[in-house]
Amino acid sequence: MTDHDPDCEKCEELLQGYLDRDLTRQEVVIAEGHLDRCDYCRRRYRFEERLRRYIRVSASERMPAGLLAKLAELRDPTANGL
Ligand SMILES: [Zn+2]
Repeated sequence: MTDHDPDCEKCEELLQGYLDRDLTRQEVVIAEGHLDRCDYCRRRYRFEERLRRYIRVSASERMPAGLLAKLAELRDPTANGL
């Protein structure tokens, strides 16, 4: 990875939005097209995806109470009507 592919730079730019499902249709096509043919970015994407899942779990304590309760409901049906 000495010379940086401009497509990779674009992909890195889009990656966060892609993980947030926050891209336009066109941007999704660009990101997915690149991830499909670039090992480097695909690995990055998988890493970021795992990282986010981990962050989501560890950040759940700081979530707004309403959302936290909603998640608890989903996780544990007996928590309904808490
Ligand atoms: Zn790439």
